[in-house]
Amino acid sequence: MSEVLTVECPTCDNTVVWGEISPHRPFCSKRCQLIDLGEWASEEKRIASQSDSPENDNWSEEP
Ligand SMILES: [Zn+2]
Repeated sequence: MSEVLTVECPTCDNTVVWGEISPHRPFCSKRCQLIDLGEWASEEKRIASQSDSPENDNWSEEP
């Protein structure tokens, strides 16, 4: 019975050991992490641009 937990990299489906040796888990590498984050960021950007309201800024800092 192995105690090593493994997951699949969301980007490339490689097997990734869930532990200290995989600092980018659940991704197999920093490259896969950046790819996934990049897709996520672009998604966020698209959503944000649809509901942009720069005039509605009630969070102005006190002088
Ligand atoms: Zn990967």
